Amino acid sequence: MTDQSVCTTCPYCGVGCGVLASPDGTIAGDLAHPANLGRLCSKGSALGETLDLEGRLLAPQIGNRRAGWDEALDLVANRFRAAAETHGPDSVAFYVSGQLLTEDYYVANKLIKGFIGTANIDTNSRLCMASSVAGHKRAFGTDTVPGQYTDFETAELVVLVGSNLAWCHPVLFQRLQAAKAVRPELKVVVIDPRRTATSQLADLHLGLRPDGDAVLFNLLLTELVRRDLVDRRYVAEAVSGFDAAVAEAERAEAAQTGLDSFELAQFLDLWCRTEKVVTLYSQGVNQSACGTDKVNAILNCHLATGRIGRPGMGPFSMTGQPNAMGGREVGGLANMLTCHLDLENAAHRDAVQQMWSAPTMADKPGLKAVELFDACARGEIKALWIMSTNPVVSLPDADAVAAAIRAVPFTVMTDIMADTDTGRCVDVLLPATGWGEKSGTVTNSERCISRQRRFLPTPGEARADWNILADVGRRMGWPEAFDYRSEAEVFREFARLSTLGHTFGKDFDISGLADLTDAEYDALPPTVWPVPTEGPSGGRFFADGGFYHPDGKAKMLPIAAPASEAPNTARPVRLNTGRVRDQWHTMTRTGKAPRLGAHMAEPYLEIHPGDAAAAGLSDADLAKVSSAHGSAILRVMITDRSQQGSVFVPMHWTDIVSSTGRINAVVAPTTDPVSGQPASKGTAVALEQV
Ligand code: SF4
Repeated sequence: MTDQSVCTTCPYCGVGCGVLASPDGTIAGDLAHPANLGRLCSKGSALGETLDLEGRLLAPQIGNRRAGWDEALDLVANRFRAAAETHGPDSVAFYVSGQLLTEDYYVANKLIKGFIGTANIDTNSRLCMASSVAGHKRAFGTDTVPGQYTDFETAELVVLVGSNLAWCHPVLFQRLQAAKAVRPELKVVVIDPRRTATSQLADLHLGLRPDGDAVLFNLLLTELVRRDLVDRRYVAEAVSGFDAAVAEAERAEAAQTGLDSFELAQFLDLWCRTEKVVTLYSQGVNQSACGTDKVNAILNCHLATGRIGRPGMGPFSMTGQPNAMGGREVGGLANMLTCHLDLENAAHRDAVQQMWSAPTMADKPGLKAVELFDACARGEIKALWIMSTNPVVSLPDADAVAAAIRAVPFTVMTDIMADTDTGRCVDVLLPATGWGEKSGTVTNSERCISRQRRFLPTPGEARADWNILADVGRRMGWPEAFDYRSEAEVFREFARLSTLGHTFGKDFDISGLADLTDAEYDALPPTVWPVPTEGPSGGRFFADGGFYHPDGKAKMLPIAAPASEAPNTARPVRLNTGRVRDQWHTMTRTGKAPRLGAHMAEPYLEIHPGDAAAAGLSDADLAKVSSAHGSAILRVMITDRSQQGSVFVPMHWTDIVSSTGRINAVVAPTTDPVSGQPASKGTAVALEQV
């Protein structure tokens, strides 16, 4: 590495790898970072190829003309203030991103909830882990991942549910691979309707029927009871709802999983007789109309056996984005307050309002992502600010989202790129600094807070998101509340606020970081929360109970099997969307690296030979995929990796990169009724040759 290298954190997935980066584009894994111990995946190691300024937004733009910051921010502040005064605070909305740093997220959340006075702030993290949040809160009374990455290496059995870890969280997969190489007795089970790159590591791959997860884990719960493997002491002391959960689980029928009885018996036997089990789950669980129930079915099994929070065991929600966790911590979702406090608890709201010296406080949940854009379409939102995300590509029913944004009288977008599908729909574009140009913190999937550090000059007139938001807050009339001079000041305020976690008996507490000097903040090493002012930091949760419901117990929930779908002859195939190994989100950064494009050069339709024959499709044909919402045209890739009746399409391609492959235009806006997370893996589609 060069003398100018800085330790920073990868901007892509929720593993949160440490990176050594230099202004000349030299990139290496950080050996000292606990998430990756020097490893990087293809995306992380290509970061140096994505640092050029081609296509960047370098100055504010109003309509098609360049504007100065003062003119642009006065316009934003005036229009947001006017909308709130004329139509009420709920006519204003922010749609933000798990790409934001914690400091950005914190200021956005403070501005809209405490000063504008609405909870209409939601995030693209809603698409990624909202069902896990809801499942955690239902079971634990708090949104907390109990374990650590080292649990994968000390477990005797790792069960991966709805997770293509090899492509979506590659460094964690590398760690699992390495652990299995050293200890071949470490068993890996992959539960996924598709056979993916991850399945190659598996001792057992269960090609489950789509959405069969809750039934499978209900069967497991009844098997644990039948074999008398319930931890009766743990359940008696730390769990409620056991009998009702078991009674409902007993209604599960093995046939609903689509598994043959031998495979099913193998899985049940392995889980039952292995104490050190980690069950990792990801988007295949979360992105479903019954995602929260699936999460709770998994948590039920760990709670019944007390296999939680101890080394090498526990449920583990693997989040998609680099700072989805930081967003959860600051309360940057429509139904959350900051620091794991409750938006619907008056005492919590009052305490936050007091600490912010805020004139008001949102007192009811705001609109979740899909609802928010529905409200835009109905004309209920008068001013909308989109930050660091591209919902015209990434949200379901994406054409309707574009129309909804255009229907809002005043729209702003903060982004690093000048031309995006969403940017084409808004009135004002504000240039943000990107990875390497900005500084702050992110939290990865194991609750580890890491620094992103600046190592590049600021391009053009770009500014950090927190800085833009604070400037708008001052122009709206709150100069003291948004008088931040640095990201370190924002972080210290957030850390001070987290004393409320302690006051109200919540788990999120980083008050031990509230007095960091600027130099200490800059040098902050990767730090797992909680970090209280007194007492132990980091570690695992719930080994001895200590849950956050009022009775101190966890809740097991009765989980019913999802209703089976009626066959649809017009649209006979189920569309499953997801990621490819070498691209990230809507490709604005990874699309710059030619070697990443070489892995999968174009959007494609992965289809079983039986479905291809039924639709008259051959390998390399172009196929039109249509739903009730839209269509896309994709290259056919025939493979038995996908089950018959289910096709897979990657979600990265945009209209700007490929005019036909924007698959979220096809995806139905169905959501989980508890979490509001879109069911991005279950749209009924028709196929035809083009
Ligand atoms: Fe970045 Fe995730 Fe790859 Fe790590 S695994 S280098 S965080 S994309």
